[in-house]
Amino acid sequence: MNLKDIEATEALLSSPQKIVIVPHKNPDGDAIGSTMGLYHYLKNRGQDATVISPNDYPKFLKWIPGNEHIVNFEKDSNHAKQLIAEATIIFTLDFNHLGRIDQMQPYLQEAKATFIMIDHHQAPGDYADIMYSDVSMSSTCEMVYNFIEFLGHRDQINADIANCLYTGIMTDTGSFKFLSTTSRTHRVAADLIDKGANNTLIHNKVFDTNTPSRLHLLGCALKNMVIMEDYHTAFITLSQEELDSNNYKKGDTEGFVNYGLTLDGICFAVIFIENKEDGIIKISFRSEGDFSVNEFAKKHFQGGGHTNAAGGKSDMPLEETTAYFVSLLENYKEQLNA
Ligand code: 5GP
Ligand code: MN
Repeated sequence: MNLKDIEATEALLSSPQKIVIVPHKNPDGDAIGSTMGLYHYLKNRGQDATVISPNDYPKFLKWIPGNEHIVNFEKDSNHAKQLIAEATIIFTLDFNHLGRIDQMQPYLQEAKATFIMIDHHQAPGDYADIMYSDVSMSSTCEMVYNFIEFLGHRDQINADIANCLYTGIMTDTGSFKFLSTTSRTHRVAADLIDKGANNTLIHNKVFDTNTPSRLHLLGCALKNMVIMEDYHTAFITLSQEELDSNNYKKGDTEGFVNYGLTLDGICFAVIFIENKEDGIIKISFRSEGDFSVNEFAKKHFQGGGHTNAAGGKSDMPLEETTAYFVSLLENYKEQLNA
């Protein structure tokens, strides 16, 4: 964030504003952690702020301080539309283009508010008036910490803010193991612990709240895993029927895709999840090393994300989707062998 943007932001926040903060659809730990961290900071400054999520978020995030105040656009759309129309500032966090908020997009496009983007995804759109975009960042939560620091308010980070921001740093770095984890990430995390983030409890709440059905679903996913050694690739499928018979709840498949990468010699892991209601196959891509799943998802599966973690979708049935996916691999053989 450059000095001009920091001064412009400070000028806006020095008077009372009506603020809406928006994460991407199907928000994850970083999306909810960053929006709620910013929410607490702005509320403590006396601002009128509301987080509006495009849809619901997983149960393992429902302990986040203040999350009960999040407005769910899908459930409470009239209230949400009114807040968006009346907003003077709209913060968009943890996504790079308005397509990522799906059915909320037209309402944000019509909004009169000043837009501030805080995000670490590649190829950011140009809809925001003030942009804090940095693809080298581990997480949007680390950026919200920086944002508060830029405004000279690091001392205003309290335990609520610290717990929110630590959560997203932990989830988006795969518990501090992904390449995006820097010494600065650890320093930020350490400072958040000093300011009251309960790191052990957060880990426990996010990762150690499995249900028997989720573990059964994981068993099913691992059984379905196809390993293609020639392409250093492993992929998993889950059909709607398999989800239903394992009592699937939102968030249950979070992290499943990573199991492929734990195999020796595998650098590309994918999960295809059938969603009959939306008529799509939702796909998550992960890689180790230089193979860009962001490029792959963008080119072939209407998606995007980061170099080593991206998502996308397919409108074809599950089997056709995986057959198409397999047919693409030959073109990437060299990159996958690197
Ligand atoms: P996940 O696979 O965990 O849903 O997402 C991995 C990364 O890719 C996240 O940073 C997420 O924001 C991004 N991502 C997931 N799905 C999509 C998508 O459909 N389109 C784009 N552009 N990014 C996505
Ligand atoms: Mn993120």
